Formats: sequence, C-alpha cells, structure tokens
Amino acid sequence: LIDPLLEHARTRPDEVFLRGPLSEPRLELTWAQLAGLIAPRARELAALYAQGERVILIAPTTAEFVIEYYAAQAAGLTVVAVNPLSTPRELAYYIADSGASAIHAHPATAEAGETAAREAGIPFAALTTVGAESVAAAAREDLGALSPARLPAEHVATLLYTSGTTGRPKGAMLTVRNLLDSGRNGVEASGLTTDDRSGTALPLFHVFGLASVLICAVAAGGQLTLLPRFDAVELMRVMDTDRLTLVAGVPTMWNAITHAPEGEYDFSSLRFALSGGASIAVGLMRRFEERFGARIAEGYGLTETTAQATLNRWDGVIKPGTVGTDLPNIETKIVALDGTDADVDEVGEVCVRGSIVMAGYWNRPEATAEAIDADGWFRTGDLGSKDADGYLSIVDRLKEMIIHGGYNVYPREIEEVLYEHPGVLEAAVIGSPDEHYGQIVAAAITPMPGVELTAAEIEAFCRERLSAYKIPRIIRFLEALPKGATGKIQKREIALD
Ligand code: ATP
Repeated sequence: LIDPLLEHARTRPDEVFLRGPLSEPRLELTWAQLAGLIAPRARELAALYAQGERVILIAPTTAEFVIEYYAAQAAGLTVVAVNPLSTPRELAYYIADSGASAIHAHPATAEAGETAAREAGIPFAALTTVGAESVAAAAREDLGALSPARLPAEHVATLLYTSGTTGRPKGAMLTVRNLLDSGRNGVEASGLTTDDRSGTALPLFHVFGLASVLICAVAAGGQLTLLPRFDAVELMRVMDTDRLTLVAGVPTMWNAITHAPEGEYDFSSLRFALSGGASIAVGLMRRFEERFGARIAEGYGLTETTAQATLNRWDGVIKPGTVGTDLPNIETKIVALDGTDADVDEVGEVCVRGSIVMAGYWNRPEATAEAIDADGWFRTGDLGSKDADGYLSIVDRLKEMIIHGGYNVYPREIEEVLYEHPGVLEAAVIGSPDEHYGQIVAAAITPMPGVELTAAEIEAFCRERLSAYKIPRIIRFLEALPKGATGKIQKREIALD
C-alpha cells in the first residue's frame, strides 16, 4: 500500500501533496516530507508490534491520520480505524472484538481512547502532531533506509467496523488487494492525474474517505486537501483557494454548500464532485450543477466492497438518479426477491463480486458465509435495478422498505418528491408502526432557513405527485436531521414524537 507513496517521494520529492485547513500557519507537506514523517514512525511501530497485530487508530481527517496509517502499513500492522466520537464503551467492544494490542489517538480526540485502553489494560499512545520541528527532522530522513514489510496481497491492511444496523458492529477485513484495486478503479474512472487537486471533509476512518479519496489521491499522485470537519463555507473557500478539481462528499454536504449564501468564490477549476454514501435527489444534483458549474458523479458502494463498486463516469454518460455502471473487475447483479436473476428494470437485491469485496468479517465465519456465497457474490442488503445499458439504480435499503397495507413503499421515491418542494432543505422518510396498516409512511423535514411549512401544505404537494398509499401520514418538522460520522442522515435515530 505504501509503495506508490514512496515512489512519489522518490520521483517528485518537492511537490506538495497534502494540505490542511485554511488556518495559519497552514500545513503543507511535500511527498518527501510526508514520507520522511512516516519513516521513523514505521520503525517505531515495527519495533513495538509483530506483523498482523491490530492497532486502533482514532484521528480526525488530518495529516496525523495519514502518517500513522501509512506507517502502520509499512510495519505490516492491521489498522482498526474508528470514529473519534466513539465512547469508551464502544471502544471496549472494538478492543475485545479485534483483539487490538493498543490504541493510538490524535491528541485532539484522545480522551475516550485513553480511558478505554486503561480499562482494557492495553497501551495507549498519543500521536505526535506535525509541526515545523518534525517537518524539519523529516527532511533529514534517508528514505532509502525505509524498508516496508513485504506482505501478501491477502494481508488484512484495515479493519473497518460497519455501523451495525443489524446486530453488533462487524469488522470488515479489507486486504491490501482490496484497497489497491479500489484505488486503481477510482483513478481510472475519475481520470485522475498528477494535475488533480482533490479535497474532502469526509472521515478517513470510513471507507469512502479512506479508499475513494486518500488511497486514490496517493495512487494518482496529485494533491489532497483534508478538512477535519465539514463546514460549508470552509469547503467552498478551499475549493477556490486550492483550485480543487475534485471534491468528494455525501449528499448532505452538497445540500449544505448549494444552499449556503453566495460569496466571491471562483469554482472554475472544479471538474466534478464525487457523491456517494446515500442517494442524492436529482433536483439537488441540478441545483449543484447550476451553482458550481460542474457535474456530480454519483457512485455506490459499501464498507464491504472497499467503497465504490459502480460509478457514473464523469467523462461518460451520467444518468442522474442512477449510481452508474460496474467499475473494472467488478460485477454487480440483481437477484429478484424469489431468488432468480432479475430482468432488466426489475427490482431485487444488489449483489457485488470482484477483487474489492472484503475478505470477510473478522472472526465471524457464519456472518461471512451469510454475506458472501460460494461463488463470491456479496449480498449488499440494498434493493436496486439495472437498466438496459447496465446502469444501476438503488431503490432503497431492503430493511428500510416500508410495507403499507401490503404495498411496498420505497422511501427514496417520496424523498425525491419532498426535495422538489422549494421550502424543503432536508427530508427523510421512514416507516412508523401502525396497527391497521402494519406500517405508515412518516416524513421528517427540515425547512429551508426562514421558511414556515405546514403539514397540510406538504401533504397537498405530495398528493399531486404520488399515489394515495405513498403520501406521508405523519409529517414532522425538525430543526435538523440526525447525521452519522460521514454526514449521512441516520434514519434509525429519527424521533417522530
Ligand atoms: P451507515 O448506517 O452509516 O450508512 P452502513 O452500515 O450502511 O453505515 P456503509 O458501508 O457506510 O455502511 O454504507 C453502505 C450503504 O450506503 C449501502 O449499503 C447503501 O445502502 C448506501 N449507499 C451508498 N452509496 C449509495 C448511493 N449512491 N445511493 C444510495 N445508497 C447508497
């Protein structure tokens, strides 16, 4: 995994690769400086741990994350990257489940990790923050002396815990091959070159930020701006200042920047925005394109598929409302609800096969066998269909489909309608238990700032556009919708009372 990074450090040592947020003094690291920061840390880690040992990494989207991640790869460890918002109790579970040897955390997000490590009786270490001194020392490093562990492609480079809507979180084992192939696909499909400048505020402990952004940027050799937290204005400022050609994010981020107040920004460098993690409403896509003068290329993937399995190629035909076509060496198929292969346009469960499918769930042979069949097909738990050109549409998550009086209702279809309403900023549709119908359709809506909406108005709007059984019977207005670490709306946390 680290070879491409070392190659850039050798061939173009003085070119800037990594940038931090727009604070003063601004962090900027060249390839050689980054490699020079990684090398001594890799030696330390190799002296402390045996290859294959798991180490939990807790850090925001910063250079420190990148240095620790690649140093651990050079030492042949398995990085268990977790959410900095994890509580000591959640960390205790990750420690026990992964058998982690230690916790390493960024000082800004160290508290829970320190507590959890102490309680579990394992070592805790705070990461060294990057500053003028460490960068100067990095410049003196002899990179030739760094000899990364030579590992098989099947080596588990990273364990990422899936959020566990069903049962307890499971660690998806992502191998060196999974991550390299995912990176290669991203570079190829996005046409990334050394001239590209990517930016993101996505967390790096999530596969979208890790594989689709960091590993792709290292593979391509362009530049990368990392923001430790999402802020609409700051993202727009770095898009302008760093002349970003590509931004990666989730739909709630596009929504926020599309509706942020106008400013004196120049977005003309932007080639496209990479969107994933959740479906993006077609209306929002159009509004984004009008404001930023660039297209949104939507992709689809999961932690278990090392990020994107399909993508609307930015240089090809983008079909809004679809998540594009299969990436190289990846196959997707739709299995109808009766278990047979679905016809064109028929809805069924999306299955994925290829070298990006995880090696399995850590220490869970049964869950792995349930998820991946003998032919290598991974069942995603998402409902989708494919059109005659091979474009995949995600209809919804299987478990989020609402069954109202025997009718299948797909929340996404109703959300698309709600987003067409000019007063709606964010919307989420969920099923609410009902004695008579089994489930009824419920909508949680955040209005645009300064807009007053009524339930009757929303209902009338839906009635003009949807058949009766799809009209939300419960409509609630919330100041904000609950979001997860990536910024995705967390439907299971929406309280309707
Ligand atoms: P979370 O609950 O935080 O979303 P998760 O357990 O679903 O996490 P992830 O691997 O983060 O795990 O998310 C993968 C899921 O995200 C997919 O199964 C799918 O439901 C959804 N998803 C990803 N990309 C898209 C997309 N472009 N359109 C619709 N849904 C998507």
